[in-house]
Amino acid sequence: MQNFEYHRPSSLADAVAALRAAEEGKLLAGGQSLLPIMKHDLAAPSDLVSLRDVAGLDGIRLEDGELVIGAMSTHAEVADSPDVRGAIPALAALAARIGDPQVRNRGTLGGSLAHNDPAADYPAAVLALNATVVTDRRRIAADDYFRGMFATALDDDEIITAVRFPVPEKAAYAKFPHPASKYAIVGVMVAKSSDGVRVAVTGAGRSVFRVPAMEEALAAEFSPGALEGITVDAAELTSDLAAGPEYRAHLVGVMARRAVEACE
Ligand SMILES: Cc1cc2nc3c(=O)[nH]c(=O)nc-3n(C[C@H](O)[C@H](O)[C@H](O)COP(=O)(O)OP(=O)(O)OC[C@H]3O[C@@H](n4cnc5c(N)ncnc54)[C@H](O)[C@@H]3O)c2cc1C
Repeated sequence: MQNFEYHRPSSLADAVAALRAAEEGKLLAGGQSLLPIMKHDLAAPSDLVSLRDVAGLDGIRLEDGELVIGAMSTHAEVADSPDVRGAIPALAALAARIGDPQVRNRGTLGGSLAHNDPAADYPAAVLALNATVVTDRRRIAADDYFRGMFATALDDDEIITAVRFPVPEKAAYAKFPHPASKYAIVGVMVAKSSDGVRVAVTGAGRSVFRVPAMEEALAAEFSPGALEGITVDAAELTSDLAAGPEYRAHLVGVMARRAVEACE
């Protein structure tokens, strides 16, 4: 790991200023993705700007029919929140199955979404629930936010402050986890609201994606049987040591049916 300057600002304005002044600055939230990357010398930021003391990035509340979760909320806080459990139990359950206790007690919602690991769990929830990513300067709709592997719509000096989740009629997340890391080999979130049904898949491709054929079938008939015979193209899916593309394509169908069964 290379040397770096450490900053601990207390406001969003100071955090942005520190980032802009740095040669190659990086925000630091829970450090559960950034620090391993730095330890492997895959990133060598000149400056780390901690978000720990920045005001206005924490808290979980219900507002105008939406669940608003501060970017610095840890996975454990989301999993344990009575507001999350009451409004979107599937989101609390998803957070409870991220990584291990250490990861859940340090890692944050904002960090996970900024990093956009192709096997991360939150991207599936954000896309299926049609959430809005709120930053220090704008609001970004879920459909516009994810731009590919580790790529998002965020500018280099942009800070996620919160995520706004509309409360669905029902939703569920089914994950086939990697046995060691618990990242999704395939994870599928299904959400039904008055606007229709959204199905989002993580782990299977270069980034989270929706499955329109499943969404249409479930809008017509919301049952696991409605998904019979609907597949995704294996040619578009990831191949790695954990699973090949045909197996991942099969898992997308299985996890989608399990999610529909589990919907509450
Ligand atoms: C062993 C292990 C197992 C894991 N298993 C899972 C799993 O099962 N499922 C899963 O989804 N994830 C898993 N993770 C990843 C974990 O969820 C991380 O917490 C998450 O990816 C990053 O969040 P963080 O707060 O630690 O961010 P950091 O590591 O601090 O930052 C990650 C990136 O986001 C940027 N960033 C952070 N906060 C913001 C913000 N508010 N605005 C803009 N940019 C920001 C940083 O600059 C950096 O580029 C695992 C990690 C480990 C180490």
